[in-house]
Amino acid sequence: MRRPIVAGNWKMNTLRGEAEELVLAIRDLAAAAPIEVVICPPNVWLDLVSRSLEGSGMKVGAQDAYWKEQGAFTGEVAVSQLVGMCEYVIVGHSERRRLFGDTHEIVARKLVACMDAGLIPILAVGEDAGEHAAGRTEEVVRRQVGAALVGAAQGPLVAAYEPVWAIGSGEAASPEHAQWVATIVRDALENAGFEPQSVPVLYGGSVTPGNFAGFVAQPDIDGGLIGGASLDAQQFATLVEQASAAAY
Ligand code: PEP
Repeated sequence: MRRPIVAGNWKMNTLRGEAEELVLAIRDLAAAAPIEVVICPPNVWLDLVSRSLEGSGMKVGAQDAYWKEQGAFTGEVAVSQLVGMCEYVIVGHSERRRLFGDTHEIVARKLVACMDAGLIPILAVGEDAGEHAAGRTEEVVRRQVGAALVGAAQGPLVAAYEPVWAIGSGEAASPEHAQWVATIVRDALENAGFEPQSVPVLYGGSVTPGNFAGFVAQPDIDGGLIGGASLDAQQFATLVEQASAAAY
């Protein structure tokens, strides 16, 4: 059975004191959960968050990483520098693709670098509003999954379906749409040589305690990648509870 995962992506939010307060509040509320809970803070708080979560069973993730081993890459953080500070790394988030120019090839290199270093990539894929309206969701998601796994050997991996139009918009996908895309993700994983039933597939995009139960009730959705609601300890803990209740 795939272990359900609820991962919180704090993005570029929280000052030091806020990060400390938030992670401790989440730890108090969610540490006993029977599922995998992952906190992805800004890189500057990775050490603080991983120390705060020591002994809790909760995990830490980075929001991105650069694939080169070391060198003159001002502002970047190498995968190798994250080892020991986190277990997961988000790769291919639509904000990285859209705002920072992460191409299919760059996403693939980041994914392989994470796997080679023993970190688990959380591969984010999803169509934008225009592609959605044009009925191109399947084509886009298949291409993103296939391209990201070029050169990847079998290894621990998490996939997240995050329709770009749903991220931060307050307009989540329907659980049925997300379930359909999750089956496409699994098929694309299989085409890329992965054992699709062993890869957790998450949904992300305007998840709230009011809509999450519908997603985790779907047979191919194993949890969530949460943006805005992960910045509120009570809301995030409620999502963890909902995923736990759906699974056990
Ligand atoms: C995200 O950016 O990964 C995300 C899902 O954001 P939100 O939950 O705020 O829509």
